[in-house]
Amino acid sequence: MNPAPRILNPSPQMTKENSSPQRNTEKIHPPCASVSSSKAGGSKPLPEWLNPEPWLDLEITAADVERALGAESPNERELAALLSPVAADFLEPMAQRAQAITRRHFGRTISLYTPLYLSNFCNGGCLYCGIAGDRRATRAVLGEVQLRNEMAAIKSMKLEELVLLTGERMPEADVPYLRDCIAIASEYIHNVTIEVFPMEESEYHELAQAGCTGLSLYQETYDQEVYEKMHRWGDKRDFFNRIDAADRALRGGLRTIGIGALLGLADPRFDMLCVYRHAKYLLKNYWRAGVSISFPRINPQLGGFKADHPVDEKMLAQYIFAMRICLPEVPLVLSPREPQRVRDSMAGLGISKMSVASKTTVGGYSDDSEESTEQFSISDERAIPEFCDMLRAKGLDPVFKNWEAAYREPTHYGAAEV
Ligand code: SF4
Repeated sequence: MNPAPRILNPSPQMTKENSSPQRNTEKIHPPCASVSSSKAGGSKPLPEWLNPEPWLDLEITAADVERALGAESPNERELAALLSPVAADFLEPMAQRAQAITRRHFGRTISLYTPLYLSNFCNGGCLYCGIAGDRRATRAVLGEVQLRNEMAAIKSMKLEELVLLTGERMPEADVPYLRDCIAIASEYIHNVTIEVFPMEESEYHELAQAGCTGLSLYQETYDQEVYEKMHRWGDKRDFFNRIDAADRALRGGLRTIGIGALLGLADPRFDMLCVYRHAKYLLKNYWRAGVSISFPRINPQLGGFKADHPVDEKMLAQYIFAMRICLPEVPLVLSPREPQRVRDSMAGLGISKMSVASKTTVGGYSDDSEESTEQFSISDERAIPEFCDMLRAKGLDPVFKNWEAAYREPTHYGAAEV
């Protein structure tokens, strides 16, 4: 039986009467227990199904890239060729092949969604993040009134797909809070997904029962050494707990899973091959699941983190084309971290899904003056009409809704199917 929805957090700051988000501008110091109990990456090797090493050492030639471009069923070998520096000279034929494949599988459609930050409270120690626990950030968490205001603002934009975001698991934004937010958001929007901290299977199931349909959880990097360096403390240091969360979410009843690596943290070829192998693993083991891939790059944020492995716009394009060629049916997603010129040029050339009109402050849709600290800066701030005009000028169709709430029942995988 479904658990009865709680009316958000019953703390004084979160009652229905309260009209502004709960706030805090202090650093959130990492709890000692969390530091000492957290497991860093590097304790065991990557599992065979994920390890990209055999393909990283290949000597790639121009002939290999040409072969990869013509391959009927490309796999790791072809992907390694298309990701290689040698393939940088083949951007034009890669773009043409990526566009043809995108047209075949997605038509001229670009699915649109928007993110909604529920809370930017976080005690995580991620070096690259503007709201890590040691940043003097302005923090806020939505109560019911603000959430409903945000949902009304988003609904008025005709959007029907939403990603709810938080930082790490915190008292201000825990699983019951999320469950209540999902139930409320589902009253307004057909497709409500989450991009939050990793959970247990039973917790994902609870969220699926409340109306959640999918999870985005980016590994950030699959390089365990870099992962350990980037995640200084907190639950997120547990590398394998994060990798395995996708399995737990799908077994818990969520329908879709979005994966990716934060480009710039580690060798992007290593990470892209891992993302590919992770997607293949999930598609094979959870055949009913929708798997998508995002391509976030390091962006300016509070704390001034600089990427050790910067990925420029040409490299980003190459990686998107390579992934499209090797995973023809997987939706590829581009966020508004990217500048307009990149988003415009990638739409339909591999990318089939984009966020739009995004706000990365807590409460930013219904209150222009909202000043909570952003996790990262938005580069493409166009409103929906302007963005859709751009898509139509390129012969593409913006899609606001491709999913019915009537199909929101959780998915079930029997043990034999997994
Ligand atoms: S990346 Fe996520 S977990 Fe890490 S500090 Fe930022 S919000 Fe917290």
